[in-house]
Amino acid sequence: MKASQFFISTLKEAPTEAALASHKLMLRAGLIKANASGLYTWMPMGLRVLRKVEAVVREEMNRAGAIELLMPVIQPADLWKESGRWDFYGDELLRITDRHDNLFCFSPTCEELITDIVRKEITSYKQLPKNFYHIQTKFRDERRPRFGVMRAREFIMKDAYSFHTDYESLVRDGYQPMYDAYCRVFDRLGLDYRPVAADTGSIGGTGSHEFQVLAESGEDVIAYSSESDFAANIELAATLRQSGERAPAQETLAKVHTPGVKTIAALVEFLQIPIERTLKSIVVEGEEEGELVLLLLRGDHEFNEIKAEKLPGVKSPLAMASPEAIQAQFGANGGSLGPVGFAGKVYADFAVEKLADTVIGANADDWHYTGFNFGRDCPEPEFADIRNAVEGDPSPCGKGYLKLARGIEVGHVFQLRDKYSAALKASFLDNNGKSQIMEMGCYGIGITRIVAAAIEQNNDERGIIWTNAMAPFQAVIVPMNYKKSEAVRAAADQIYAELSAAGIDVLLDDRDERAGVLLADSELLGIPHRIAIGDRGLKEGKVEYTERRSGETELVAAGEIAAKLK
Ligand code: ATP
Ligand code: MG
Ligand code: MG
Ligand code: MG
Repeated sequence: MKASQFFISTLKEAPTEAALASHKLMLRAGLIKANASGLYTWMPMGLRVLRKVEAVVREEMNRAGAIELLMPVIQPADLWKESGRWDFYGDELLRITDRHDNLFCFSPTCEELITDIVRKEITSYKQLPKNFYHIQTKFRDERRPRFGVMRAREFIMKDAYSFHTDYESLVRDGYQPMYDAYCRVFDRLGLDYRPVAADTGSIGGTGSHEFQVLAESGEDVIAYSSESDFAANIELAATLRQSGERAPAQETLAKVHTPGVKTIAALVEFLQIPIERTLKSIVVEGEEEGELVLLLLRGDHEFNEIKAEKLPGVKSPLAMASPEAIQAQFGANGGSLGPVGFAGKVYADFAVEKLADTVIGANADDWHYTGFNFGRDCPEPEFADIRNAVEGDPSPCGKGYLKLARGIEVGHVFQLRDKYSAALKASFLDNNGKSQIMEMGCYGIGITRIVAAAIEQNNDERGIIWTNAMAPFQAVIVPMNYKKSEAVRAAADQIYAELSAAGIDVLLDDRDERAGVLLADSELLGIPHRIAIGDRGLKEGKVEYTERRSGETELVAAGEIAAKLK
């Protein structure tokens, strides 16, 4: 590809709205353009990367025996009502109406649609097992779209769905082959990742794993053991702790103090105390005068008692809000608790019937600043604080100590069992002619998110560093003075022809720009191999080869460069 016939649009500075390295670099390198909140165009350079990821995923899906089809993005509400998810899915489901007033949704996932196909197409055990997949656009009206394509509203997912006669087949012919295929995909893409056990929620059992790309900027928290190979996402780890003998959430909270104002709240948020769990007796400790803790609990709950105890020897005014005052402020279903200007302990005894997904902490500044209207705008929890607070606890698996890491969820495999097949009556006749409900699994990979996650792990101050598997081009030729120097142009064209003939995806950057701009762009774009060609080197028949990752440069005879890159 010649740059003059392609489209390269790089920026010196990242737009200020981008906080994450990958988001900044994707915008600077011109891989994506933002169109609206959570909506992006994949620009030509970015699309090449996306297609490479897709190709690896497709190859491994096919190798594992999954069969490709393509389901529609717009799906009829009726199917979603049949499964119960029309009501259950909530605000993330974008609902639309056609000119005849028929209701549809923009698919966030496809269990209903594929189950509808399978219940019509598959009637006998002889047709099972089957695993269908597609690579298709999804829409989720995320509460907080952010970090570019990492958490977008429209994104591309590979989703596969397997159907089986029994549970053994689900594990043997569906779940395990998909788990293995996911490992091959992420290995081939060169990602540093970890499969972690995940909660199966209402389905029960342990049949779910997330594939987490390890990155400090990740939104997810992984809990693992210092000694065993136990690894789980924080939600499952918290559930395991809760089902143990002690009441860990309470103890964990009780352990956290200075500078734990944010920490306590952050911890609750990260542990995601599940809806409908009864939580009692939170003990909040403050050691320094003036420390303030506020927990805002939204949902139905009832305060039984809030009492406070000053630390002996510490003089501080105690201004505790009474339950009545809280109710007056927030109404029956909202609330806060906490000491103001206080050093000591607060015991809050309350039952939470339904705790919404928000348990938010704020410090005194936020409280005053936003005039009770805090919540979404609260500062991000400090992961280091959370880690300090819980690391070193015995862990859920019984061996070693609890350790935490941050991750980006790039894939998820799940044993659905009969959740959708029962609701949609996907049955088959077994070899005795008896009708049975199918066992089902589902398997997702965030194609677009992978691109961002890979950059998060592979970048430096100059830009992106692609692995060979994902690079938009394997090699870039940077001629100094392509327009004016005949010798340079001839050598560049020659090497371009040789590399192309050798099957190497090569970009000849023949744009009429200063050498400095071309060299900087080649680094920003992260192309693994660079061949810089100038008159000076050519006098000795040499070109300059640079490897992007190591930054190492060497002079190579112009005639040998193709053989070197092969
Ligand atoms: P998250 O916890 O990040 O919201 P999820 O658990 O809701 O993700 P799944 O339903 O498991 O996502 O979907 C499968 C995959 O789709 C995820 O592992 C992730 O890689 C990708 N994905 C999910 N939501 C988004 C999004 N908003 N933007 C980009 N990719 C996404
Ligand atoms: Mg989600
Ligand atoms: Mg998730
Ligand atoms: Mg998931």
